[in-house]
Amino acid sequence: MNVQTHLETLSVAIGARPVGSEANRAAEQYIARVFENAGRVAERQSFACFDWKLGATELCVNGDALEARANPYTLPCNVTAPMIFVSTRRELERAAMENKIVVLHGELAREAYFPKNFKFVTIEEQQHILARLERGRPAAIIAISPQEKNPAPIFQDGDFEIPSVTVASDVGAQLLQQHDARVALRIDATRSAARGANVIATSKTDARKKIILCAHFDTKPDTPGALDNAAGVAALLASAQTLDTKHFPFAVEWIAFNGEDYYSAAGQVLYLEKCGNEFENILLAINMDGIGWNASRNSIAFFNCASEFENAVMARAGDIARVEPWYQGDHSLFAMQGLPCVAFSSQGAEVVIDTVIHTAHDTLAIVDAQRVAQVVEMTAMILRLHEDADVNNLNPARVDSVRV
Ligand SMILES: [Zn+2]
Repeated sequence: MNVQTHLETLSVAIGARPVGSEANRAAEQYIARVFENAGRVAERQSFACFDWKLGATELCVNGDALEARANPYTLPCNVTAPMIFVSTRRELERAAMENKIVVLHGELAREAYFPKNFKFVTIEEQQHILARLERGRPAAIIAISPQEKNPAPIFQDGDFEIPSVTVASDVGAQLLQQHDARVALRIDATRSAARGANVIATSKTDARKKIILCAHFDTKPDTPGALDNAAGVAALLASAQTLDTKHFPFAVEWIAFNGEDYYSAAGQVLYLEKCGNEFENILLAINMDGIGWNASRNSIAFFNCASEFENAVMARAGDIARVEPWYQGDHSLFAMQGLPCVAFSSQGAEVVIDTVIHTAHDTLAIVDAQRVAQVVEMTAMILRLHEDADVNNLNPARVDSVRV
């Protein structure tokens, strides 16, 4: 199995591969080549996106430099302007924001905003706030995070047209004391038009029903993305290379999704557009995201599955930990439609998001290739469980007629 080679190619030779970047296209090409060399029918689904690059971010109040973090995908700016403080919906409605720097705090900066055009989740209250901010035409936004350290960005939105930064709560406290000061904010960033693609391989068969294996290959900017998600892609590729699909009464589709860590989930939206009408043919979708963490063990979660199926899998799962269903991954695309899904990850990985995952610390040093291989074997086993099933009589929403 070539798990180690795939891991090294994606997370070391290619490295950070955010949607829109050249590295992202290099990863796309590598994946397509592996699929083709494995004798699979490979196809690309291409979408428009942009490549976002960030240079320096400088925030200055009364000559003092304060620490600020440009929000991912923000527009650039270079402005000096008075501040206007806004903490509630009421204040927002009344605020004269034009050409000022809006300092967003209190209840308006308590939690991150979903991108304004995000297809999978929208919160009406947030949509109103974003629209009001854009109508107010401020020069920029400084959002004060409730967090004291490593503030999570309040906005991650390439469609939001106001330059913005997030600051930690202590920096925010200083700003709040300088009510009448003028602020200088400079963000060196560029959004340039680019393309990205999902890469999809299919087993050669006439069967209409299919089982999906998927993993996303993009990363956040500035992380080699070994655990998230070179590991899942390595398992996906190894499966395409090794799985014997001859006797399967169903097709196997290996999807390398592009965009799980991009603000608009562009690849997932496109897949849904192109293939959504074939969802009735999906018997099962298996997602791999964050597998093989060497500080933990692999985890498995089930969605919309029959208990006989879950029991059959768990009886063969070795040290893989069963965890509660979670929805921050590509499997939710299928799970939300009521389709049976399995999600592989690492137990406890959610705790290190933004401290290890999505940072420069997500390197090969934290991935155990052996554990990645364990997931490849598990997926093969799960597919073999369906081998003898009369797939055309399977209820796609419940895999309960699988012989186990
Ligand atoms: Zn991921």
